[in-house]
Amino acid sequence: MSTMVIIGGGQAAGQAIASLRQEGFEGRILMIGDEPALPYGRPPLSKQYLSGAIPSEKLAVRPEKFYQDRNVELRLGETVTQISPLEKTVSIHEESIPYDKLLIATGSTPRRLTIEGSQLDGIHYLRTQADVDAIREDMSHAKNLCIVGGGYIGLEVASVAVTAGLNVDVLEMENRILQRVTTPFMSDFYHGLHTNRGVNIHTNTGCSGFRGAAGRVTHVICGDKEIEADIVIVGIGIIPNTQLALEAGLAVDNGIVVNEQCQTSDPHIYAAGDCTNHPNPILGKRLRLESVPNAMDQARTAAANMLDINKRYAAVPWFWSDQYDLKLQMLGFSGDADASVLRGDPSALQFAQFYLSEGKIVAVDAVNSPKEFMVAKQLFGLTVDPGALTDPEVDLKSLIPVRTA
Ligand SMILES: Cc1cc2nc3c(=O)[nH]c(=O)nc-3n(C[C@H](O)[C@H](O)[C@H](O)COP(=O)(O)OP(=O)(O)OC[C@H]3O[C@@H](n4cnc5c(N)ncnc54)[C@H](O)[C@@H]3O)c2cc1C
Repeated sequence: MSTMVIIGGGQAAGQAIASLRQEGFEGRILMIGDEPALPYGRPPLSKQYLSGAIPSEKLAVRPEKFYQDRNVELRLGETVTQISPLEKTVSIHEESIPYDKLLIATGSTPRRLTIEGSQLDGIHYLRTQADVDAIREDMSHAKNLCIVGGGYIGLEVASVAVTAGLNVDVLEMENRILQRVTTPFMSDFYHGLHTNRGVNIHTNTGCSGFRGAAGRVTHVICGDKEIEADIVIVGIGIIPNTQLALEAGLAVDNGIVVNEQCQTSDPHIYAAGDCTNHPNPILGKRLRLESVPNAMDQARTAAANMLDINKRYAAVPWFWSDQYDLKLQMLGFSGDADASVLRGDPSALQFAQFYLSEGKIVAVDAVNSPKEFMVAKQLFGLTVDPGALTDPEVDLKSLIPVRTA
């Protein structure tokens, strides 16, 4: 009976387990994850779980019974310390565990600040349920929250915190929030949204240190300016967890290098999720993504290929973010565009910005516009009349070409 070992206990690991059984694998599945919880979804951590709208029991992607019924061995709270590709084993310290096929789904780790005062209590990073439990405890006593980094996670936290009545400052080194991930139009929209709700956004402002009293943060230092803060959340990006792969001699280059089958440079080892650098045949380039759809689809692909069912990972990247009562859904990369058109009304907080390159749709940012987003998925890569996209009289569905059998 063959053994499939999965390293990591997150979104990709959980999906890979389900997919291995769905594809008919009856052998041994062992998942080793260093967090104490069953595989869970991280998106609510900066949204409904932070606000207290959902309890911790709702975070798990599947209940414990799911794994029991499928005879899956879970070793939670344990860290894989080594992969030995020649022996086909993984180690948990002195213990050696053999595998036939291995999936690395180790995710990523928040990038850390190592500046004056960065060890003070009250300074948090947000990746795990444990992180949010600590943040919620601190937030319940806090008045002034300072968020370092104006990316999606930071802005989601800002929306929860200002709604809860805290004074919120957001520091962004670049000249606009979301600079790394979206267009000036969308940055302006979200800047206005947060400012109107009372968030203080400081662009062109880096954090140079922290000041504290009795071991706890009291101020964030930004050059010659200081911002009062009794809690700080740092959201300045992530680093893929590639150390195990690197030490095992696998190809690593800004993520674990995999092919379209999610296979690493070792034919018995696969990788999925945030930790990978993978080819996207639709976009014609390699990507490292930080998104749930990517983690799930790669896990499905890896599981199939671990069972020698040839499956290729080829999906247009998409992502979502919830801030206040707005759901943003993004497809593709707006940076690939040479033109954009707007449908809907930003002042009514409902619109879709379509991005085109040489007349073809390459991306969309849809705010409270799920129908437009769904249609954009089907129009991706197609040449569309920009006038029809903006015309509210035109039913977008009518632009989808009819498929002939
Ligand atoms: C706060 C937050 C909000 C987010 N919101 C969204 C969103 O709205 N939409 C969206 O699409 N994406 C969102 N994301 C991103 C999304 O959650 C990630 O892309 C996704 O979790 C990646 O799944 P993964 O399985 O690759 O990694 P993870 O879910 O991070 O799982 C990896 C697991 O492996 C464990 N691990 C690492 N090394 C070892 C080891 N040596 N031994 C054992 N275990 C190990 C890690 O501790 C972790 O538990 C969010 C992320 C965060 C942190």
